[in-house]
Amino acid sequence: MEEVKLINDDGLRLDGRAFNEMRPIRITTGVVDNADGSAYIEWGANKIVVAVYVREAYPKHAQNIDKAIVKARYNMAGFSVEERKRPGPDRRTMEISKLISEALESAIMVERLPRAEIDVYIEVLEADAGTRIASLTAASVAVADAGIPMKDLPVGCTAGKANGKVVLDLSKDEDNYGDADIPMAILPKSGKIILLQLDGDVSEQELEEAMEMMLGAMKNISRIQREALMNRYMIEDGE
Ligand code: UDP
Repeated sequence: MEEVKLINDDGLRLDGRAFNEMRPIRITTGVVDNADGSAYIEWGANKIVVAVYVREAYPKHAQNIDKAIVKARYNMAGFSVEERKRPGPDRRTMEISKLISEALESAIMVERLPRAEIDVYIEVLEADAGTRIASLTAASVAVADAGIPMKDLPVGCTAGKANGKVVLDLSKDEDNYGDADIPMAILPKSGKIILLQLDGDVSEQELEEAMEMMLGAMKNISRIQREALMNRYMIEDGE
């Protein structure tokens, strides 16, 4: 297959970004009134809503008497991609739901909520590559917004390789026609990696370069997450 030109002669990507430049990210909380916690994220052209509900697990025999069960459900709206997505869960959707459930569980103090079930509904309204990571990043904020005790606020980023060069935060074209896609998420306080996937071919050195770039970007994304929570709960002075 002929290589698609993703980086121009000035070293810029199709959307004008430099190799280590993120798409803009915006997060707001408290967007779903009937949820215990919620968040909305715009990450480039991705648009995702997350609503979190905490309840007693049902039926009773499904309860874990030692800890809460964390169930994330990732769903792409039929209109979220160019070719209408067939509704309902497919393999990819189930895999992403499982990855996000496990990543969130590693941050939630599940032993503080025995017998509970934490339902995390993720609705992708518009998808433009990197939705699993954008979903997890927003889901962390929504879980915190629900007042669920957490050890840390999971954060993620994606990097990859396009035209042989390591690039940060893949666009849809880079995801489709690039050489590799590497989503990653961490617990920022401990630095523990809670999600790491690699689709494509990279050398050890390129993987290191990609991880280094993502770790740098995640510091900013963490700040955006915390600001979203603070904006909701800070009481303005002097009013
Ligand atoms: N995508 C699509 N149809 C699908 C699944 C994915 O058009 O049924 C697009 C969507 O824009 C998504 C991108 O392909 O963001 C990359 O998908 P991938 O499986 O790599 O997951 P993501 O990067 O979104 O975590």
